[in-house]
Amino acid sequence: MSLLQDQELTALTIADMMIPSEKVAHVQVNNPLEHALLVLVKSGYSAVPVLDSTYKLEGTIGKTKILNEILGLERFEIDRLSDLQVKDVMVTDVPRVLKEDTLVDGLKALIDYPFVCVVDGEGYFDGILTRRAILKEIRKDIYSGKNKQGR
Ligand code: AMP
Repeated sequence: MSLLQDQELTALTIADMMIPSEKVAHVQVNNPLEHALLVLVKSGYSAVPVLDSTYKLEGTIGKTKILNEILGLERFEIDRLSDLQVKDVMVTDVPRVLKEDTLVDGLKALIDYPFVCVVDGEGYFDGILTRRAILKEIRKDIYSGKNKQGR
């Protein structure tokens, strides 16, 4: 049984639901694009966080963006995978949340994204919060009966 079972949904923080950094696949800004594509294909994720060498969050990179980048007029230009680096293709304008933020903060941030990155006050990467994690907590809350009328 989960420790969170009896906790009010709105009292949950991002820290209660996030995947910690050590379990998150990531790439670094200076990695060749080929490495990023390998990580994405092998992990099965559509996008992963991009970090610098000190573990600060720099952005995210996804399969679609990489494939679009190497798409020529009629074929994929595979050589470009080793010519380009992650920093040439990554998205830097990504939402960030803090561990101390609430479930509602996470929910708002996740409306437009399948996952958001969790950082500390200085921008160091702490992990990610996924839509799946939030949906699981909401489902748990519904089945626990807390939302039934009269309770
Ligand atoms: P999910 O909700 O588990 O399907 O995850 C949604 C997205 O979050 C995935 O497509 C990935 O982009 C990202 N993601 C989830 N888990 C991880 C992980 N352990 N490492 C890196 N990215 C992840």
